[in-house]
Amino acid sequence: MSAVKDIFQSVKDLWSLFVGLRVTGKYFMQPTLTVHYPRETVDEDVEQTYGGHVELVPKPKNPLKPKCIGCMMCVTNCPSGCLTVVKAKAPKPTPEEEQAMKEAEARGEKVKKPKAPKEPAKFMYDYSLCSLCGTCIENCPVGSLRYSNNIYFVGTSRKEFKLDLLQRLQRQAENTAKAAPEASEPEQAAETAKSEA
Ligand code: SF4
Ligand code: SF4
Repeated sequence: MSAVKDIFQSVKDLWSLFVGLRVTGKYFMQPTLTVHYPRETVDEDVEQTYGGHVELVPKPKNPLKPKCIGCMMCVTNCPSGCLTVVKAKAPKPTPEEEQAMKEAEARGEKVKKPKAPKEPAKFMYDYSLCSLCGTCIENCPVGSLRYSNNIYFVGTSRKEFKLDLLQRLQRQAENTAKAAPEASEPEQAAETAKSEA
């Protein structure tokens, strides 16, 4: 009885081996989808489709600043507690402005105090905790968050995955500005004429 059982087990093992080899053989003959990083890198169009860690989206007219209005929806909804946002504070009035406000108050006038700008002063993100669930992206009312295509991001310690997203945005804007080709002379002349008009 035990010999029959052994034979069945051997047939079963051989069958699994055959199924595995069939799958291997099928993909062996097809073009490879992976690359031998760092000797090879993926094409740029593939890189653009990669959904990496979360990043801030810049304002269309000012790439140094994010679209973020500091509403805290992303922080509140993140299930993993990866985001820390500190809202910007109202600018401190100068001594002259403070004096003028005191005088206006003494005269019984309504004093308009400087308002805090609707932007973050700090935007920290811990990629080591992030599950890339996309909840922050979906809940941002102004579309200020997206997945980056930072495909080759590696690190050897946890602290390398704690990202200052404001600093990152500024570095990206500076790198884009550096990489942009210088405007040609006719283009510069046209720009000058436009601004002088
Ligand atoms: S993708 Fe998900 S886990 Fe990651 S920061 Fe956004 S809400 Fe949090
Ligand atoms: S990124 Fe979006 S959701 Fe998060 S604080 Fe800024 S505006 Fe609000």
